[in-house]
Amino acid sequence: MARLVVISNRVAMPERGGASVGGLTMALAAALTRYEGVWFGWSGEVAPTFTGVPHMKQTDGVTVATIDLEEQDVQEYYNGYANTVLWPLFHYRIDLTHYERLFGKGYARVNCRFAETVRPLLQPDDIIWVHDYHLIPLARELRRMGCRNRIGFFLHIPWPAPQLLTTLPRHSDLVSSLFDYDLVGFQTADWLAAFQGYVVDEAGGEVLDDGAVRAFGRSIRAAAFPIGIDAQNFTEIVRSPEAQRSYDRAAATGVFRDMIVGVDRIDYSKGLEERFLAIEELLESHPDLVEKVFLLQIAQTSRGDVEAYQDIRAKLDAVTGRINGAYATVDWSPIRYVNRSYGRDALAGLYRAAKVGLVTPLRDGMNLVGKEYVAAQNPEDPGVLVLSRFAGAATQMGEALIVNPYSREDVADAIARGLDMPKAERIRRWESLFHGVQTQDAAWWRDAFVAALHQLPETSADL
Ligand code: ADP
Repeated sequence: MARLVVISNRVAMPERGGASVGGLTMALAAALTRYEGVWFGWSGEVAPTFTGVPHMKQTDGVTVATIDLEEQDVQEYYNGYANTVLWPLFHYRIDLTHYERLFGKGYARVNCRFAETVRPLLQPDDIIWVHDYHLIPLARELRRMGCRNRIGFFLHIPWPAPQLLTTLPRHSDLVSSLFDYDLVGFQTADWLAAFQGYVVDEAGGEVLDDGAVRAFGRSIRAAAFPIGIDAQNFTEIVRSPEAQRSYDRAAATGVFRDMIVGVDRIDYSKGLEERFLAIEELLESHPDLVEKVFLLQIAQTSRGDVEAYQDIRAKLDAVTGRINGAYATVDWSPIRYVNRSYGRDALAGLYRAAKVGLVTPLRDGMNLVGKEYVAAQNPEDPGVLVLSRFAGAATQMGEALIVNPYSREDVADAIARGLDMPKAERIRRWESLFHGVQTQDAAWWRDAFVAALHQLPETSADL
């Protein structure tokens, strides 16, 4: 069987006894073990000068190869082009997109460094799977070095509407570099359609019935592969002692009160401020719920080096302070805003203790939190998922209460409806959602992508 080489910005191979890792990491790690794979990426460390020599390690039959980057690389490629240009733009926030030529140069340089370092590790029949927006031009660099392997790319975040993408300087160069892959995967049919829209309207290309996309003198395959969670593992950890402890603690503090839960990285795409305002609206429009419900918002700090993230933290502190100041009583406050990260076991217990899971991003490639919330529920007395229509997950999770996160009235109404929903309806909706989460899980996603890539012939086009 061909080896699988996974390339992503960061590498997070789980280590025995190490910190808990996310479902995606577990799924990729399992695939790599199965295919005798290699996982290549940035170590997260900074070195005074780039050496081009990877650190090699074996973990559970997987070769883990990492490189250190220079400080300038981190500033221009990671904080700059990836997180100040592509992330906001692809999440429809052109107001927060700040482009500098140096960022573009740093992005190209680091992609070149990735290619140069991984190239000697590749064998002729390896299948290469590149992940996410940090590494869009990687295949082009590898092709320049003569690599003819099958190379697939999966975008974990949304693909923006063509009208937005054209605000990016050199957008055509970026998109044309995707045509050096054999297969390009998106989370949903919507993001795929936005990509195809660009290809047809901007690049003068064409989309064929069999999923082939032609432009820039090349033909590739593009399709949607919605990502899932490791549902089986999640239903197991919800029975762990740590999950039980966090469930008991949350249930004890919530006696006679219903808990609503939100779990997110602090990011402007997650709609946290709008969510807090929806809680305020809920209390205003349903005074009977005052002192009867609270939102537990677990919010982990992320990308603290990027200015927009510092701004949003200050804003969220102010909004929660104002709402709590207006409504809190001696032993109750409407929003418990907890700035830290929790292990998966503890999170599973919190999800299970919450009557409503509140997942209201303004834009999200998929969103795994909604799927985790569903997987953690008690089948005999499940909670209700309130889900933004702008999360990729909404395309698969129609039995959730689907809301417009920009409308605080809409979100408040859905929360009130969820809190009041008869048990039979909760069970019916949950069973349908859980079936989807269980069958379209992380392994299903991974196997579908790898199989689709495997079927394609090796690259024969002129390079
Ligand atoms: P994103 O990848 O944009 O952060 P997703 O919803 O796709 O959003 O994935 C988030 C993952 O990170 C989920 O697995 C979730 O459980 C985890 N996570 C988010 N916030 C926290 C937190 N505060 N503590 C622990 N895990 C978190």
